[in-house]
Amino acid sequence: MNATSAASVSPTVEWSQNTHAPLGVPRVNEYSPETTSTATETAMAQSTTRAGGSLARRERTTAPRRRLMSDRRGRIDIGSWPLVARDAPGHRPQRPRRSPATPAAGTATATATHKSRSVVVPCMPVALVTGSSRGIGAAIAERFAADGYDVAVNYHTSEDAAEETADAVRAHGQDALVVGADVADPDAAARLVDAAVDDLGGLDHVVNNAGIDQHVYTEELSPDDFDRVMDTNVNSVFNVTKAALGTLRDSDAEPTPSVTNVSSILAYTGAPIEVHYAGSKGAIISITKSHARDFAPDVRVNAVAPGHVETDMTSDRSEAEKREELAEIPMGYYGQPADIAEAVAYLRDARFVTGETLNVNGGELMR
Ligand code: NAP
Repeated sequence: MNATSAASVSPTVEWSQNTHAPLGVPRVNEYSPETTSTATETAMAQSTTRAGGSLARRERTTAPRRRLMSDRRGRIDIGSWPLVARDAPGHRPQRPRRSPATPAAGTATATATHKSRSVVVPCMPVALVTGSSRGIGAAIAERFAADGYDVAVNYHTSEDAAEETADAVRAHGQDALVVGADVADPDAAARLVDAAVDDLGGLDHVVNNAGIDQHVYTEELSPDDFDRVMDTNVNSVFNVTKAALGTLRDSDAEPTPSVTNVSSILAYTGAPIEVHYAGSKGAIISITKSHARDFAPDVRVNAVAPGHVETDMTSDRSEAEKREELAEIPMGYYGQPADIAEAVAYLRDARFVTGETLNVNGGELMR
C-alpha cells in the first residue's frame, strides 16, 4: 500500500480564532502576567460556566506554545511546516496535570493565576475527528462540541463543508480548527495532529472516521483502487493514532484519553462488491484490539461499527435497493449520523470499555 504523495496535502490550513473567549478576555495566546486583572479573572471564571456538563476543566499555560500563524488571515502552509521530532523534549504544549487543587468537573471556580512567568487559564478538552467535513464525521464533531470539546475538523477535498462543520462547533461555544489533510499520507497526518495540538492546546480524543468506499467486484478491481481504499481507511488509522499517541498519553482527560475508530457492519458480513472496503473495516477492528492492549491503561481504544447510515456514501441506492435493505433492519429505518455520534460519545466516556467494537445497526446484525 502506497502512502499518498505529499503533493496531495491540502496547501493551506485555516483555523478559527478563539471565538469562545468571553468579552474582555484576551485570546489565550495574548495573555501575559501584566494583562491579568481582577476583571479578567472574573470574566474567565464566568467562562467556565458556559459549557457545564461533566467535563473537567483543564488549565492551559501560554508560555511554551509555538505560534504558527503566517499572516493576518490565520493561514499557514501545512506543506512548509517543519515536522517536530516527537520525542524532542517540550515539543508538545506543556499543560499542567490536574492536581487536587484543580476545580472538579463542571464547577465554575477556575480563575487566572500566576505561575512563575506563565499565566494559567481554563482550557477545553480537545478532540480531533478525521473526515469531519460531511456525514458521520461532521455529526461526531458537532456532538463533541455539544459535550464541551474544542474540535479539530479535518477534510480532504470538501473545504466549504468543513467550514460548515466548524461553524456548527462554534455555535456550541467551542473552538474549531479546520485542517485540510489527506490522512492516508503519514506526513500529512502528523501535521494534522500537530496543528490540532498547537492551535487548540492539546489533544484528548481522536476519532478515526475518514473513509471511502467503492462498489466493484474483485474481477474488475484494480490493485491501485484496492490500495487507495486500504490507504484511506486503514493506513489513516495507523498514521493518525501513531502521530497522536504521545500527546494522548500526556492528556489528563477524564476518564482517560481515547481513540475511537469507525469500522462497519461489513467487517462481519463481508461484501462481494466491495471486498477492499469490507477488508479495510475488518482490519480496523483488529487494529483497535491491538492498540487497546498496547496503550492500556493510559489510552482506551474502541471502534464503532455502523450499519446503514444515511450519508453521501449511501446516497446512490435505488428505491428498490432501499426497500430491500430496510427489510433487513428490524428497527425499520436507516441510521442517522447522530446515531453513530451517540455511540462514539458513549465510548469516549466509558472508562471500563477498551478494545470493544460497538455495533450500531438497528438490529441488522446481532452478535
Ligand atoms: P461520507 O459522507 O462519504 O464522508 C466521508 C468523509 O471522509 C468526508 O468528510 C471526507 O472528506 C473524508 N475523507 C475521505 N477520504 C479522506 C482522506 N484521505 N483524508 C481525510 N478525509 C477523508 O461518509 P460517511 O458515511 O460519513 O462515512 C464516515 C465513516 O463511516 C467512514 O469511515 C465509513 O466507512 C464509515 N461507515 C459509513 C456507513 C454508512 O452507511 N454511511 C456505514 C458503516 C461505516 P472530504 O469530503 O473533504 O473529501
